[in-house]
Amino acid sequence: MSEHRLASWVPGVADSGYDVHHLPYGVFRVGDDEPRIGVRVGDLVLDLAGAEAAELVLAGGALRRPTLNAFLALGRPQWTAVRDRITELLTDPAHRAAVEPLLVPVGEVRMELPFEVADYVDFYSSEHHASNVGLIFRPGQPPLLPNWKHLPIGYHGRAGTVVVSGTPVVRPQGQRPSPDGPTFGPSARLDIEAEVGFVVGVPSPLGRRVAAEDFADHVFGVVLVNDWSARDIQAWEYQPLGPFLGKSFATSVAAWVTPLDALREAFVAGPTQDPPVADYLRDEPHRGLDLRLKVIWNGQAVSEPPFAGMYWTPAQQLAHLTVNGASLRTGDLYASGTVSGARRDQVGSFLELSWGGTEPVTVGGTERTFLADGDTVTITATAPGPDGTTLTLGEVTGTVLPSN
Ligand code: MN
Repeated sequence: MSEHRLASWVPGVADSGYDVHHLPYGVFRVGDDEPRIGVRVGDLVLDLAGAEAAELVLAGGALRRPTLNAFLALGRPQWTAVRDRITELLTDPAHRAAVEPLLVPVGEVRMELPFEVADYVDFYSSEHHASNVGLIFRPGQPPLLPNWKHLPIGYHGRAGTVVVSGTPVVRPQGQRPSPDGPTFGPSARLDIEAEVGFVVGVPSPLGRRVAAEDFADHVFGVVLVNDWSARDIQAWEYQPLGPFLGKSFATSVAAWVTPLDALREAFVAGPTQDPPVADYLRDEPHRGLDLRLKVIWNGQAVSEPPFAGMYWTPAQQLAHLTVNGASLRTGDLYASGTVSGARRDQVGSFLELSWGGTEPVTVGGTERTFLADGDTVTITATAPGPDGTTLTLGEVTGTVLPSN
């Protein structure tokens, strides 16, 4: 399934992580100008609003909007046609004179939230993460709850507090448990969750479920996600209805959405599922994504979570979240859940890295368990591209500000 490697006339694109086989979409601003849709190529942004205005690419005006939503709603044939046309513009030197004026250095733009988030769902699909959390919170009991291997566990999050990478995160306040009952104040156990998010483009009608095999007809692409989590607030509030204020204060997403079309080389066989899953959760082919994440805490790499081994695949998650007839909307975001591998240096949360806060880690010369004010966490990822190339997914970063 390997495709031939294409070369661009744009300088510095080869081996940049953003060659013409990647072309992630985002929304950018230059100065006080209105937000514009663009694709990243190397260290440049191709202004697609300008390209559509100049009739270099045609998408019915969907590229001349302040968010990706209208483009997301077009569906896979148009996504692929636009991508093919952009590839042509960036590889055929005949287009260079027309396209070059539309390239803006990435250092000169400010990135916005790429799409208006409709509904936000967060899953819990890493067996290693779910087991670690079970061992930390329910010692002496089976690490996985009885339902875990029968359905992708998830909860509905708060779409309105999904923010773009770079947005500071104010430490949340709330009720925290203590031996003498709850106390109120700033979270003392602020954490991250390194995740991969899936962006829904094509909606589905209420009352009709979406089959796992129709995943690529509905899902446009992938963004890295940091599902910031206040473990103390979460621990006190979560029974019996699940996470609420411990997670809804902020969820960060990358500024760049990598299209599924760019990830053809990254799909790998999914893990064996035992016991066998319900019919509606069968996905053929059963495929995960070989994304290699890295968690960077104040500039220091502390973990490298592998996404390829996630127990539940994104197609299964989509089938599950619609099996009751719940509709999809353009701009829906569903995230994988914390990505953790088998080893301590592969975990996607500091809850696991510090084993519930009992085993501090050294970050920049100081001992840490959870996040301190002023800390910055950046999550990056790479994926295999064609012909031995590597794609660099858009990073998701954020700095913790003190409670106010
Ligand atoms: Mn999460």
